[in-house]
Amino acid sequence: MQTPSLSRALALLAPLVLSACAERRGGGKPGADDTAGPATCVDAPLSIAALQADIRQLASPEWDGRRPGTAGDAAARDYVAARFACLGLEPLLATGAWAEPFVDHKGRQTANVLGAIPGRDAAVAHEVVLVSAHLDHFGRGRLGANDDASGLAVMMAAAAALAQGPGPRRTVIFAAFGSEESGFEGSEAFVSASASEISPADVVFNLNLDMVGSYDQTGMVYALGTMAGTPGRRAINALVDDYPDLDIGLGDWSDLSDHVTFCRRGVPYLFFWTEDPECYHQPCDTEDRIDYRHLVEIADLTAALVSALSDTDDDLGGAVRRGERVCRG
Ligand SMILES: [Zn+2]
Repeated sequence: MQTPSLSRALALLAPLVLSACAERRGGGKPGADDTAGPATCVDAPLSIAALQADIRQLASPEWDGRRPGTAGDAAARDYVAARFACLGLEPLLATGAWAEPFVDHKGRQTANVLGAIPGRDAAVAHEVVLVSAHLDHFGRGRLGANDDASGLAVMMAAAAALAQGPGPRRTVIFAAFGSEESGFEGSEAFVSASASEISPADVVFNLNLDMVGSYDQTGMVYALGTMAGTPGRRAINALVDDYPDLDIGLGDWSDLSDHVTFCRRGVPYLFFWTEDPECYHQPCDTEDRIDYRHLVEIADLTAALVSALSDTDDDLGGAVRRGERVCRG
């Protein structure tokens, strides 16, 4: 049986969604309807304190690096799902669940956590801006604070910022992908999942966040995939002057994270990444090494970009339709 397209599903949901969000955001205590875990809504999502609280929890020794199939992996999923629920995001799945399970190639039961803010402009609400980070790391003492608890924290901060606004023109999906370290398996599961009401063709842009907490290692954050003439380059060019404390490396390709899944299908991307030569995939990738002073700037820029991309008059879907080259190889 064919599943309805995301745009049709969202069009049906829209009035319901908007009133539910207004209720959740307007009344009651933030987090009052949380049942999935310890996460609650945050008052100032684009702050060092909020980012630090998320990374400390996600990269805690108790959750041991969120290794796929472990209790730490499940706890991290519940944490992100609780945040999405608290923010008034919509689950993507017809079942109303936040997590879409899959089994990775090592036989580990894991899942992606997916939430959406439906677009308010009928002309472009069928287009999806996908904001992603990955849930998993290696565990067994490798906690993955930078890789990729930092990206998850920024993704959730951007979701909170967008949820507090008037609503994007395009639909924005926030995704915490599982089993990235074993080969981008969560993002592949996302585009091929039959239970999801998403057509991969609906995704017109991917903003991916992976290792964004080590700016101080080289004094640079890379915005990869922003080659001249791409929608991502235009969007970030309009914002960079507002972030004088960030040295941003523009242009160049990357095949190092989940955006590869989308660029292979012709979807343009912007991949935020900071180098971490010392502790990449090492036990020393711990929370105390995170460069929060720059991370909060990266989070602010990410939120601004998500807002700009979801509202832009730029023909985001055009790059996909025209089959423009957005990916190396
Ligand atoms: Zn990573």
